[in-house]
Amino acid sequence: MKNLFFKGISCALISILSLGFVACNNDDDDKAAAPVITLTEVGHDNAKQAHPGYDLHLEADVVAEGLIARIDVEIHQEEGGSFEIEQSYTDGTYIGVRNTEFHEHIEIPADAPLGEYHLHFTVTDKEGQQTTAESELTLVEADGDEDEHEEE
Ligand SMILES: [Zn+2]
Ligand SMILES: [Zn+2]
Repeated sequence: MKNLFFKGISCALISILSLGFVACNNDDDDKAAAPVITLTEVGHDNAKQAHPGYDLHLEADVVAEGLIARIDVEIHQEEGGSFEIEQSYTDGTYIGVRNTEFHEHIEIPADAPLGEYHLHFTVTDKEGQQTTAESELTLVEADGDEDEHEEE
């Protein structure tokens, strides 16, 4: 008798919990997963280097269930300086899509100081969810063979 009683209570509890769980799941279903970013190449051959006065080659795979609304790239000096380079993509081929292979060349000003930098690659989806991927980046003196790095 006692066992049956407890069985009944447990069942009721489990039902309530499952209902709650199902309700939560339904809420989640309305929301797309946050963007997923894989930074594939920061600099040619993913060398994580760039030269002042030249472009930084940047590649990333982006998957955004909620569709890409904007991509922001920010590069800032790591220590002892506040030099910043910012580039935003709010229209064009990357915007409004679920999957993209980002490939851009970001201009590094000729007056950018050499040294350690930090790169933030932020994707915002149409539901306002944001994901940021980060990378180190070093600005080094141009080594004279930049021309052979040229590509589309
Ligand atoms: Zn490139
Ligand atoms: Zn940073």
